[in-house]
Amino acid sequence: MNQQCIFCRIVAGEVPAEIVGQSDGAIAIRDRNPQAPSHILVIPRRHAATLAEYVGQAKPEEVGSAFSMASKLGRDANPAGYRVVVNEGRDGGQTVDHVHIHVLAGRPMHWPPG
Ligand code: 5GP
Ligand code: ZN
Repeated sequence: MNQQCIFCRIVAGEVPAEIVGQSDGAIAIRDRNPQAPSHILVIPRRHAATLAEYVGQAKPEEVGSAFSMASKLGRDANPAGYRVVVNEGRDGGQTVDHVHIHVLAGRPMHWPPG
């Protein structure tokens, strides 16, 4: 746990969030600034700054379980389709340095993304 990290503090229950899913390895919360009618973040409980760090540190089953949670939440939000995004680094649009999976649903998605 990193005391300076907002997502570690949410995982620890120190900062409130609307929790919509939980597993041994991750929690899912509603994004506070939603970019779609349903915008959920799957946040691994372990602190890893980026996707690269996460896949380097966690067991493949742990990573798989986080993506499995993302897929289930996306399908539950809209069986007709959803989008999963992981931003990494400055040019990737990452603003919180604790890896997380965005699950966006409830409107048609466009390509290419912004
Ligand atoms: P990133 O830009 O790093 O890919 O995504 C970070 C996301 O976390 C943003 O969509 C932002 O709205 C969300 N976020 C940042 N701080 C908080 C918070 O304290 N609570 C919640 N629920 N979402 C947050
Ligand atoms: Zn963290």
